[in-house]
Order: sequence, then structure tokens, then C-alpha cells
Amino acid sequence: MAKQPMLKFVKTSRETPEKRDATVRTQDYNEIYREYASQKAAEQASRCSQCGVPYCQSHCPLHNNIPDWLRLTAEGRLQEAYELSQATNSFPEICGRICPQDRLCEGNCVIENSGHGTVTIGSIEKYITDTAWDNGWVKPVKPAVERTESVGIIGAGPGGMAAADMLRRAGIQVTIYDRYDRAGGLMTYGIPGFKLEKDVVMDRVKQLEASGVQFVLNCNVGVDISFDAIRGKHDSVLIATGVYKTRDLTDEGADAAGIVNAIDYLTVSNRLSFGDDVAAFSDGSLNAEGKAVVVIGGGDTAMDCVRTAIRQGATSVKCLYRRDRANMPGSQRETQNAEEEGVEFVWMAAPKGFTGSPVTSVTVQKMRLGAPDASGRQAPEPIEGGIYEEKADLVIKALGFEPEDLPKLWGVDGLETTRWGTIKAQYANHATSLPGVYAVGDIVRGASLVVWAIRDGREAADSIVKYLNETAQVAAQ
Ligand code: FAD
Ligand code: SF4
Ligand code: SF4
Repeated sequence: MAKQPMLKFVKTSRETPEKRDATVRTQDYNEIYREYASQKAAEQASRCSQCGVPYCQSHCPLHNNIPDWLRLTAEGRLQEAYELSQATNSFPEICGRICPQDRLCEGNCVIENSGHGTVTIGSIEKYITDTAWDNGWVKPVKPAVERTESVGIIGAGPGGMAAADMLRRAGIQVTIYDRYDRAGGLMTYGIPGFKLEKDVVMDRVKQLEASGVQFVLNCNVGVDISFDAIRGKHDSVLIATGVYKTRDLTDEGADAAGIVNAIDYLTVSNRLSFGDDVAAFSDGSLNAEGKAVVVIGGGDTAMDCVRTAIRQGATSVKCLYRRDRANMPGSQRETQNAEEEGVEFVWMAAPKGFTGSPVTSVTVQKMRLGAPDASGRQAPEPIEGGIYEEKADLVIKALGFEPEDLPKLWGVDGLETTRWGTIKAQYANHATSLPGVYAVGDIVRGASLVVWAIRDGREAADSIVKYLNETAQVAAQ
């Protein structure tokens, strides 16, 4: 009988890929985890207990067939593992790198919950697809039949790109419009290279180009071309524009020089990773070198800013968050990475004002947690007299994002929005209030995750194909 390669979780302990030492990794913008060696990936995959009801799979937004590709990896059948993994995920190597696995697949693994330490699902997913790229198994899409219908996608982030991938598989012609000069959305200009190296995203853009997807870059819809013109050119339209309006501070002095938005700061840093010459970096306005940096916020964007500031050579980096560690929205894994790299977290602290322009200090109000608010979380409240000054030469606001008012910006009647300003789209098929127009990702969900944008994009592509089939049938009658 063949040797059982699985259920090794009792004898084999959990091992994530080795992290580069903090003093070394902060000298560059490369990813911080090393690759698994093939033997290690197989060994770690073999820890899976092959659950009949795999909670990992049900908590993965893409419902990836995790137990099966873990078994194939443990058996050394990597090409089959890749085929299975890419059947449900357009960009598995990206999700393997940046999904918050502790809240999704890995956090719900039964062996994690029985105290043995989760199967390292994300790292293995990354390993499988990185191996597929190295071996030339990742190929451009070649549809069996080319169709004449075309879809215009606005936004080249993960939502738009995943939809493009699926639409090309169905033989539909696809054009993606994006206001940036490079595709990838926040995967390119938001998320730093130490979490997701830029080549990984650009390889996917090239693969889509080789699959026949047309990218129209530097094209701001509503300015360079109207939404109606895009509707007129295509048989269906997908809106995947993300959310970019930064929540702001109203405290005294908040408009001083040296107080900047997180997205501007990260975009400049990411541009440098591409070798771009960026004036706002050279003139020092979006450069942390030699500065005392204070980042305000406790989400993943704040974590990316503090770690970027360390890499730029800040003299000190402090992160102010108004709740405690247990209540922060950012990933615990990224917080730990930031601490290892020299970031100081100041919990239960909120800005109350700013001195100087350029800014020289932040007035900090110490907080405590009070009664739960409407969301059930304990609301922070100020501690009387708990005020002090924190030196700051650069303050980065990472307070979250809101949707832009697209119907107004684009002059579109009848495109309905929710009371939060996101585009109203049907849960089941992603259809908006306009016929033939669909919407996905952050512009529908509010600021969310790459994996949810991918899921939405794939589902919307299915709905669009159905819509085009029905339209073709009606035309033929
Ligand atoms: P986006 O990725 O925002 O792409 C939208 C695209 O539309 C952009 O390229 C934009 O230029 C374009 N666009 C917008 N308006 C127009 C217009 N009028 N005309 C033409 N083009 C337009 N998620 C994770 O899963 N893991 C992480 O670690 C993570 N880290 C993050 C770190 C930061 C700093 C930020 C800001 C977000 C992070 N996220 C992370 C969230 C994730 O990046 C988003 O949820 C995801 O990118 C949303 O995908 P999307 O396709 O909806 O939009
Ligand atoms: Fe886990 Fe994300 Fe991969 Fe799903 S896509 S298996 S949630 S890492
Ligand atoms: Fe394997 Fe964990 Fe998923 Fe069970 S929950 S199938 S042990 S990865």
C-alpha cells in the first residue's frame, strides 16, 4: 500500500518560510520572507488532516480547493496542484503573499483550532504558483472561440484584472481603462514591495496583455473620456475603480505643511521601486529620511506607511492609534513585522492638534476604552489632562478611504449609490442600476481586500457573459 503522505500535523510542527533579519530587510523594499525549499513545502503541506468539511476552504473568499492542492503538493505533483489552484483564483501567488490568512483560511484551519498550529496555506499557495511561473506552466489565455462582443473595464486593479482574465477565457474582447500610467491598482501603487514585489504584479499584467487584453493607461474616465463614450464603445461595462478619497483630520493645524496623505506617500515610494524620478521625493516633501515620523491610524495602510518610513531612513517612527492593540483593524502579523523593524506603537492615543508649518509636533490626547458603540466595539474616549507633545517632522494620515462620488464626477444619471457613496450593485450578479453595467471591488464594498476584489471580478465576468448571451439571443430572434 502507498505510504500516506498526509496528516503529519502531530509529528511535524508548523514552519513558515524564513523571515529575513529585520536589520537586513529594512535596507531594501524586497519581500521579507524567503522561498520554501521544495522539500519544506511538501513537508508543511503534509500536515493537513484532509478534513471532510474543510473550514479553510469555506473561509477563503474564493473557496479554493485547499485540501486537494495541499495533498498534490505533499505528493510532489506540483503542476496538478497549480492547475487546481488557478481554476478558482486568477492570481494565487498574489493572494498567497498578501491575504490576511490569520483572519481567513489559516485562522479557520481545524489543526490551528486544536492547538497544533495552522497549515501554512498562504505560503504553500504562493510556492505552487511561483514554481508554475518558473517552469513556464502559466500561459496566456487562448480562448477556443473568439467572440465579437467587447467589454470596457474601468480600473486596472485586482477586480478589473480578474474580470478581464475570465472574460478572455470566454473569448470576449476586453479593454481596460486606467488613470494611472501602470496597471495593477493598489497592488502596484498602494501595497509596498516588501509585501508584494512589483515584478509579481507586472508579470500578471504582461500575461493579460499576451492574452489579448488591451490596456488604455493614463486615461481618467470622466476627464479624458466620458463614461457614456465608454458605454457607447462596448457591449457591457464594468466599474472597478476602487476607493481613493482620504478621510481627513479637522484638528487645529491639520493643514500644515508636512502633514500628508498615506496614499500619496505610498504611491511615491512605489514609483521609486519602478525607478521613476519623483519630484515630491527628491524635494523631501514625501521622503522620511532624517525625520521624526508620526503615522496616524491602525489599519494595514498605517502599517505599510510606518515600515516604508523605516526603510527611507527616518530617525524615529511612531504610530498613534486611538484604541489598543487587540482592537486595531490592521493585521497582527504586519504589526509584529513593524515592531521588529523598529516602529514604536503608541496605543490609546489620538491627535488633538499640530504645531508649526512645516509641522514640528503633534499634540497627543491619551485615550481609554469606554462603553461599546453601535458596532459593538468599545469606543475610545479622552482621558482628562492626558495631553502631551510628540515631536514630528512628517505626519502621515492613514485614516481610511471613502468612495469618490462617481455619478457626479462622471455626470451619469441613474447610476445608483448606497448611503455610504459606494456603487449599488446586486449581491448575486454585480449588476448596477444601469443595464449592462456591472461594478466590483472596493467601489462596491468600501475599502476591502484584494481577494474579495478578485472574487467579485470573476463572478461579474460570469454575469456579463450571461448578459451578452441573452442579448445575442434576443438580437437573433
Ligand atoms: P483598486 O486596486 O483600487 O484599483 C482601482 C483602479 O481604478 C486603480 O488603478 C485606479 O487608478 C483606477 N481608477 C479609479 N478611478 C478611475 C477613473 N476615473 N478612470 C480610470 N481609472 C480609474 N488588501 C489585501 O488583501 N492585502 C493587503 O495586504 C492589503 N494592503 C493594502 C495596503 C494599502 C496601503 C491599501 C491602500 C490597500 C491595501 N489592501 C490590501 C486593499 C486592496 O489593495 C484593495 O482592497 C484592492 O486593491 C481593491 O481592488 P479594486 O480592483 O477594487 O481597486
Ligand atoms: Fe487563503 Fe487567500 Fe489563498 Fe484563499 S486566496 S486560500 S484566503 S491565502
Ligand atoms: Fe487541511 Fe486545515 Fe483545511 Fe483541514 S482546515 S483541510 S487541516 S488546511
